[in-house]
Amino acid sequence: MVDVQIASRGIRSGRVLLAMRRVPREIFLDRRFAEAAYEDSVVPIPKGQTISQPYIVARMLEAAAIAKSDRVLEIGAGSGYLAALAAKLGREVYALERHEALVQRAQSRLRHLGCRNVDLRQGDGTAGRPDGGEFDVILVSAAGAQTPAALKFQLAPWRRLLIPLGDPDGVQWLTKLTRGPDGRFVEERIEEVRFVSLVSDQEPRKP
Ligand code: SAH
Repeated sequence: MVDVQIASRGIRSGRVLLAMRRVPREIFLDRRFAEAAYEDSVVPIPKGQTISQPYIVARMLEAAAIAKSDRVLEIGAGSGYLAALAAKLGREVYALERHEALVQRAQSRLRHLGCRNVDLRQGDGTAGRPDGGEFDVILVSAAGAQTPAALKFQLAPWRRLLIPLGDPDGVQWLTKLTRGPDGRFVEERIEEVRFVSLVSDQEPRKP
């Protein structure tokens, strides 16, 4: 999978490629989807959610440029796959997922992998992680019309936030925001993508 779908499509970061070789994607999927684990496809997980396509996961990780000393926050941990990869690249990963059922499954998979530097909890990530302090990298794994302000506040200066921005049912761009020292953000579009929606428990979705 890594050679055929990821390295050949332009992902150059040796650290990202190595992490993807080391984290088996199939353990994050239901058994009936195991055959699809190494295809470059989006695969359903419970609660109507999906595990992202490996190439997009790689793009996101490469753009995030996670260093060994980095503290990472992931919003929308789903199956736990991206959190496991981020944990191989950085120092510690804080993760939030709305659905308790997904949190429990992901936690047991991360334990099974021996992944000790991920702290995954149930919660609405649009409010950030109040106990988390500042992060070097924030990865948002669900699409929104805009970046939640609480997340921008949790980013240290010069640090990076990746989020799919756009129409939840239409065109979305994986976007990289870098925080300048003056508190302003520089935005860069990385790739057109399709993610499930970032759902805020604070502002119910309009009918
Ligand atoms: N990175 C995940 C992809 C999961 S899909 C993986 O590797 O499997 C996106 C996830 O975001 C879904 O599980 C969804 O429940 C979750 N989500 C959506 N809105 C959220 C919110 N406000 N807070 C936390 N999780 C959210």
